[in-house]
Amino acid sequence: MRSREIISLLCISLILFLSACSLDEWTNQQENSEEKSSSEQKEAPAEEKQPQDKQDAKEEASYAYAQQLDEEVDKDGLTIIDNPNVKEVVVNKQRKLPVGYEPEELVIPDVPFPFEGDHPKKYLQPEAAEALEELFKGAENAGLELYAASGFRSYERQKSIYENNVKQRGQEEADKFSARPGTSEHQTGLAMDVTSPEMSFKLEQSFIETKEGKWLEDHAHEYGFVVRYLEGTKDITGYEYEPWHLRYVGKGLSTEIHESGGTLEEFFGFYEN
Ligand SMILES: [Zn+2]
Repeated sequence: MRSREIISLLCISLILFLSACSLDEWTNQQENSEEKSSSEQKEAPAEEKQPQDKQDAKEEASYAYAQQLDEEVDKDGLTIIDNPNVKEVVVNKQRKLPVGYEPEELVIPDVPFPFEGDHPKKYLQPEAAEALEELFKGAENAGLELYAASGFRSYERQKSIYENNVKQRGQEEADKFSARPGTSEHQTGLAMDVTSPEMSFKLEQSFIETKEGKWLEDHAHEYGFVVRYLEGTKDITGYEYEPWHLRYVGKGLSTEIHESGGTLEEFFGFYEN
């Protein structure tokens, strides 16, 4: 059966080929052409493999980089991130971005938002924005409705949010739920909070009980994102479970982190078990 299929495929190819070439040309080129097509078949996987190897090497370099940083500590005992311009950057309540840091480039991803206007929180770094568009297409194909609620947040904006919270609730209380300026991952332009009409566009833990929340938990990594604040990891990340907070780290790395079952802190060795 298999050999018959191959023979009929060869016949069809031959007819197509004959219709494209004159007989003389065919007689001269027959051998070369066959060699070429069989060598193309052999080479194709190798061509695909090369960029993957390069990608792996690049990612290995990034891991090494993340673990060999020469970083300063500020007067409050917080580490000041050495190079915030890498997509592996680990920002948390102990590791802050340099004062006033802003990503080199920010764009608005072409995805639905539950509000109108050119608001800074629509923005992401270009690579993350493109990946988010793919993720939203994937969700749409699965019959789901996602909305992007909050992306980039500037140092100044976080500063005023935090200071407001301190004024209203006191510093100790504010520190429990509000990030100090420089310590919000949203300042990297690599994080997006995502919600849905079923959630009335709110950001709440019950998101994980909706099909959108479940889909993100299972598929976000396929698009280069991780759910950053996992359930039961507050001691590690400093945050309660946030099934809505997606962080772009790049494809490949996202799958490795997802499969590790742990947090960014553990993955990069910023937290010892
Ligand atoms: Zn968030």
